[in-house]
Amino acid sequence: MIRWAVLGSGSSGNSYLFSDGSVSILIDQGFSVAELKRRLARFSTTVESVKAVFATHLHPDHSRGIGPLARMHHTPVYVHAQAIASQPTAIDRLNIPSGLLTSVELFEQVEIGPFTLFCFATSHDCTGSVGWIISYGGQQYMLLTDAGMTDEVQLRLAQESEVLFLEANYDQAMLMNGPYPLYLKRRIASSSGHLSNDDAFAFLDQSGFRGSHVYFIHLSDTNNSVDLLEQRAQRSSPVPYTVCAKGQCYGMIGST
Ligand SMILES: [Zn+2]
Ligand SMILES: [Zn+2]
Repeated sequence: MIRWAVLGSGSSGNSYLFSDGSVSILIDQGFSVAELKRRLARFSTTVESVKAVFATHLHPDHSRGIGPLARMHHTPVYVHAQAIASQPTAIDRLNIPSGLLTSVELFEQVEIGPFTLFCFATSHDCTGSVGWIISYGGQQYMLLTDAGMTDEVQLRLAQESEVLFLEANYDQAMLMNGPYPLYLKRRIASSSGHLSNDDAFAFLDQSGFRGSHVYFIHLSDTNNSVDLLEQRAQRSSPVPYTVCAKGQCYGMIGST
């Protein structure tokens, strides 16, 4: 059995849990260790079961809790080599104990218990940003967030995936008419910013994704509306879906 939970998704902190009940892994860790423990407890998971944490990128809302977790619980950390090489200050700030940080290349496979993971490149304003593919029991789970645009590799990976966690950060009109300063609006909408609702549905369409479920994640509190996205998904999602409002959603495949 594999189960997963979006522990948090969006500007207030990001973390995604995958677990078979005894071995757990996290993608990103943007919370204090105390807050992470509280969020894990909601899914009957202990921090001790977390055998590794994988980073998508080094923006603080995705990475600030990685160092404390590694220091307190000796949790191994996996980061894309390009992120490590290009952002030595951000890596230093995480203060990961030596021996616990592993640098990985794109598509390099990492095995943790029953899980095999590899990363693929994403287009975001943080060098070395990646998304992750998690394989378990012959099925593939894809996490694609913090990406200003998508590419052929991602389309192919989505087509092969059973469950997709896909960024739907903003509604185009809400962003443009909203309160953000112009430079920030431009940054978010740029090819190294975030995926809009339009982008997310275009990606679903182009990839021909026919897995069992899509989770819409990393919604902006200011520039998106859960209702709007729900309505749209109801009309045009090709598969069952969940809009992860405030990053609180979960699921499982298989039985215990
Ligand atoms: Zn980011
Ligand atoms: Zn983010």
